[in-house]
Parts: sequence; structure tokens; C-alpha cells
Amino acid sequence: MRPPLVPLGTLIGRELRNEKLEKPFLKYGQAALAKKGEDYFLIKPDCLRVPGNPSTSFSVFAIFDGHNGISAAIFAKENLLDNVLSAIPQESSREEWLQALPRALVAGFVKTDIEFQQKGETSGTTVTFVVIDDWTITVASVGDSRCILDTQGGVVSLLTVDHRLEENVEERERVTASGGEVGRLNVYGGNEVGPLRCWPGGLCLSRSIGDTDVGEFIVPIPHVKQVKISNAGGRLIIASDGIWDALSSDMAAKSCRGLPAELAAKLVVKEALRSRGLKDDTTCLVVDIIPCDQPVLPPTPRKKQNMLRSLLFGKKSQNFMNKSTNKLSAVGVVEELFEEGSAMLAERLGKDFPSNTNSGLFRCAVCQVDQAPADGLSVNSGPFFSPASKPWEGPFLCANCRKKKDAMEGKRAGIPTVIS
Ligand SMILES: [Zn+2]
Repeated sequence: MRPPLVPLGTLIGRELRNEKLEKPFLKYGQAALAKKGEDYFLIKPDCLRVPGNPSTSFSVFAIFDGHNGISAAIFAKENLLDNVLSAIPQESSREEWLQALPRALVAGFVKTDIEFQQKGETSGTTVTFVVIDDWTITVASVGDSRCILDTQGGVVSLLTVDHRLEENVEERERVTASGGEVGRLNVYGGNEVGPLRCWPGGLCLSRSIGDTDVGEFIVPIPHVKQVKISNAGGRLIIASDGIWDALSSDMAAKSCRGLPAELAAKLVVKEALRSRGLKDDTTCLVVDIIPCDQPVLPPTPRKKQNMLRSLLFGKKSQNFMNKSTNKLSAVGVVEELFEEGSAMLAERLGKDFPSNTNSGLFRCAVCQVDQAPADGLSVNSGPFFSPASKPWEGPFLCANCRKKKDAMEGKRAGIPTVIS
């Protein structure tokens, strides 16, 4: 039995009237196959907005696909969540918390990148970081791992963008304008091979955490998308590029529909392996957001047995090829709350980021360090103006984070120095 499908407009109306929507519960599974051993993941199903209050719970799922070593992936896995949470003002209501989350994600990603740079190591990592709070899903991503949403009715939508130089013309232009060179590998007397890369270094990505040695124009500023799904529930598939180089979003979603999350994750990995072989680290998380009156995400009726059999025995099922990808809004089961992907920090942090502290100091909007307004700033500029550029319209940044901002925009070479 399917749950009664309540139109989203009705749900929002109920929320506005403070009628309590029941929390969904989550079921999740993970599967991976290692080639280089540089994929890491994070599963934290029981985080609390307010310590000691279980009604403020939310969940975090993330994938970190490292390159040129594993230290950036491990560092991001261990520090990113704390850095994001520390950028959300204390004592926020649930609505304020969700509203503050997109820019806290930006601050947390940049802070984590700065801290990793200060370790003096050279590896980098993609991050796809998913926060689930009741029916609201917030995804922040750098690099080419991906998160898709499969909602009831068979609508598959992408919640991330690819920061691959090959796929993203805006990012190519930004990297070039900030001082990077974009081109293919030259071999055999000038023949160009492979995907577009950034030189020096040869990285295929335009955004990541780490990659200190490649250049500051490889920025850690994430694309962020926040959506709300209806109480019919939905399934998230979060996976590294080992999956997406083999399967389209639709193929991945269809390959595991109707199966429990743990088995679904295994089948997505198996399906990718079957079509392409093990060319890369391949990691997949499947998260089902399930109405609380429903023990499992409702399968497509009567086809479950057939599909299970055909997948387990590697035969293609023809039952699920009839639905194409639709726009989210067309079906009214998902509401888009927020989406922003700019690489400019000023556009991401907003102007009303809380910065004053009780002590008369200013709090840096990125790293949350308290600093006197004049510290580390040029004598030619006030606290809200950046030297050698148009006026800074964002919130207060400490000297260290200001250096990072300028470097990311190609205005200053080098790595920010440690301040103690
Ligand atoms: Zn700072």
C-alpha cells in the first residue's frame, strides 16, 4: 500500500499553521570497491542541533573521493562537519538553522581547506556532503562525486553539479581568469589526449578541498542545493565518480528501485562494475527517507520479485525503461528551497552574517575566530574593504581568511600563513 500522497502546497500550509509533520525515518546502506583506496565516506545518522534534545536530530551522509594521496579526504571527513556546525549561530530555531545552513556549508568548506593547507600536504579530495533534517535535504559539493534524488513516481533529479573542467564551461572561464591554464595532456609530438585539465598539476577538477600545490583557483566553495520532499518520501544515491562514469543518474536509480537500501547500494556498485569494470574507486551510499507509517520505501507494486531476480542474475529489466527524467517542479513532489553555485565568497556569505560579538570584537564569517576589526587589514582600507579590489560587500573576515579570499580570486599568490 502506498501512503496517501499529500500535495506539497497542503504540507507547506500545514507547517505555516504550525501543524506538526511527523518526522520521517531513515534507512541506509553503503557499498564500495577499492582500486586505489582513496574513497572515504561519513555516516552520522544521529546528530543533534540542540545537545541533549533528541527532537532536534538530523543526519549527515558524505563521500570524499581523494586524489594524489588520502590525507585531504581523511582530514575533510574528520573536520568538515564540526566546521560547518560552528558557523551556525547558537540558539537558532529549526527554521533559522535550515536557513543558515547553506552559508555555513560554504564557511565550513573554506575553513576546512585553509586548515588542511596549513598542514603543508598536497593531496586533494572531492566532497559531497548531505544534511537531512526531516523532509529537508541540503547538499553541498565540490568535485565530481554526485548525489541524486529518486522520488516516488520515478522522478530522478541531480542535487549536485559536476566541477569537472571538461563538463563545466563557466568553471573553465573562472579558472582561466584567475590565472590557471586549462588544456589537455600533450603526447606524441603535440597530440592532445584525455579530458581538460588545469596546469600546472594536471587536475581535472575545478573545485576541491586541498590541492594546495595546484593553485588557489581550485576553490573549496561548494555548490549548495536545498530541497524539500513530500511526505511520500524518497531515495538519495550518493556516489563517487566510479559509479557515474559507468551509469547515468536514471540508470543508477532504476537499477535498485524497490530494494532495501543496503542491497540497493550493493547493486548500484555491481551494475557500475558490470558495465565498465573496476577502473576507479567506487563508493555508493543509499539513503531512504521513509514516512514513519511505512516500514520501507514503497516498491513499485508487483514488480519487485522480477526486478530482484533480473538484477541478481545480471539480466536487464525492461519494466523500468518507460519513465524519463522530469523537471522537479513539474510533479510537485519536491520543492526547491535554495540553490547557489557561485565561486565568489562575497556572493555566498551574504551581508547579514552575524559578526559582532559581545566583547566588541568581530567574528570571522569563515573561521569564526574573534578579531579586532583593524587587525591585519591594510591602512588604506576600512574593515569592510579589500585592498586592490572593489569594496568587499560581504561580512567581516579575519586577516587569514581575507588572504584566502583574495588568493581564490586570483588577486594574491600563495598560501595563507598561519596566525597564532
Ligand atoms: Zn577567518
